[in-house]
Amino acid sequence: MEIIRAENLTHVYNLVDGGKIALDGLNFSIDEGEFISVIGTNGSGKSTLAKHFNALLLPTNGKIFVTGFDTSDENNLWHVRENVGMVFQNPDNEIVAAVVEDDVAFGCENLGIEPEEIARRVDSALAAVNMTAYRKFSPSKLSGGQKQRIAIAGVLAMRTKIIVFDEPTAMLDPVGRREILDTAQKLNAQGLTIIYITHFMEEAAVADRIFLMENGKILKIGTPREIFSDAAEIKRLGLDVPVAVELAERLRRRGFKLPKNILTDEEFITALKELKN
Ligand code: ADP
Ligand code: MG
Repeated sequence: MEIIRAENLTHVYNLVDGGKIALDGLNFSIDEGEFISVIGTNGSGKSTLAKHFNALLLPTNGKIFVTGFDTSDENNLWHVRENVGMVFQNPDNEIVAAVVEDDVAFGCENLGIEPEEIARRVDSALAAVNMTAYRKFSPSKLSGGQKQRIAIAGVLAMRTKIIVFDEPTAMLDPVGRREILDTAQKLNAQGLTIIYITHFMEEAAVADRIFLMENGKILKIGTPREIFSDAAEIKRLGLDVPVAVELAERLRRRGFKLPKNILTDEEFITALKELKN
């Protein structure tokens, strides 16, 4: 079932100064429960798109409907914000309280939820991101990955149906990156709709569908296998492909008979073993 729909979604910054078209008439639909990755070079419009999902920005033309609500109707703002949580790149900018559990509770308090209910939600949100043991800690004592998981717990406590991640792992080490992607996948398995902007192609490769953005447009929508099958095009845009795709391509060029469509490390390893036999 459709949960988000964009119709000619357009965003122009600084309209008065002639303007910069950051989103150029996007049309797409996302189903409830999908895991969507958004990739594209710097300046292609990913963050601008992210901010339209919860009405942090409003379309300068066209529309976006989130759980059926037109974001540009101010009467819908409450419903939109109630349904969409955001996780940004820098966890330090998102932490607002001196103790982890208070930080996780913050969004719920703003929604005016009863204290007993907030306490229950904070418990289950901390458990969901594996941070229960840290509830009395100061966030400043946590690693980047742990801070990001606290930010996710704060969103979970609000019980939104959709979580938008805007390059949540850009400032993290590989362990922290893995923790965040695992958390996003686990939440998706529980039914949340995930929109995951990333410049790590291995992360994008776990999505149901990838939106490939360039210059304010969505150039292509497809499964990771479809998107990465044309490695040359991805590289022409200045993006990487997953390591397994790259290595398989290099070996093919040297005459090794590897199957098409290798995407993951596991598939690459399996294909290498088959070669030996
Ligand atoms: P991405 O997240 O893919 O790097 P952005 O959505 O941040 O891309 O930016 C898309 C385009 O809009 C870029 O050309 C950027 O310079 C421009 N832009 C982004 N934010 C603003 C702003 N607040 N004011 C004016 N232009 C902006
Ligand atoms: Mg961005």
